Amino acid sequence: MTFAATVLTLYPEMFPGPLGVSLAGRALREGRWSLDAVQMRDFATDRHRTVDGSPAGGGAGMVLRADVVAAALDSVADARPVLALTPRGAPLTQARVRALAAGPGAVLLCGRFEGFDERLFEARGVEPVSIGDYVLSGGELGALVLLDACVRLLPGVMGAPDSGLDESFETGLLEYPHYTRPVTWEGRTIPEVLRSGDHARIEAWRRAAAETDTRLRRPDLWERYDSVRVGSPSGARRETDVET
Ligand code: SAH
Repeated sequence: MTFAATVLTLYPEMFPGPLGVSLAGRALREGRWSLDAVQMRDFATDRHRTVDGSPAGGGAGMVLRADVVAAALDSVADARPVLALTPRGAPLTQARVRALAAGPGAVLLCGRFEGFDERLFEARGVEPVSIGDYVLSGGELGALVLLDACVRLLPGVMGAPDSGLDESFETGLLEYPHYTRPVTWEGRTIPEVLRSGDHARIEAWRRAAAETDTRLRRPDLWERYDSVRVGSPSGARRETDVET
């Protein structure tokens, strides 16, 4: 099954952009995934091809019209999930990315201006998703981020099949730190244990480093992870959280 991505945007020329190179680009050429960028403006019905209107209730900026976006969406809709990029959405997680990558693909709506007319979400079952707590000028970079995260998980895209398993967020922790040649660089030496060849010690060191870094850098992740470890009631939900 090919992962089929359709992006609805006012700037189709932004695609595939960075997804046309490296692993994602090769996979695209090999047909492991497909990408269609649809110009939403083509679905405007007036002479001026208007896609936006001023905000009801007043205020700055313009809002993407629900009727125009819905017409664009209806022209491509099938069984795939529909997601809209918006800072008002649920933060994108590796678990959501994994679930999407295991499915038929996704239809992605890229906002511009102040965003979408809110009625669109319920009317078309659109899932609002954010790529982080900051504001971009448009949803296109968010769509590229989301697709990059999905595509690298598709079968045959990444070199080593299990290089994803320890990665940050897969286990609820950040990944352990990495080192490579030279052994000593600017007076700093790779931790001795990593040069010991003792796999059990290395494993234990990596585990401890992953835990320490997560605790210090991402107290939010650590709190969730730690509550699972001690088997608190909130921890009992973690398995399902990760799967959905
Ligand atoms: N007025 C909106 C921001 C609009 S930014 C608000 O304050 O919530 C314009 C468009 O950029 C959005 O419609 C969305 O598609 C995209 N965008 C901006 N920040 C984003 C983020 N953190 N995640 C995903 N999309 C984002």
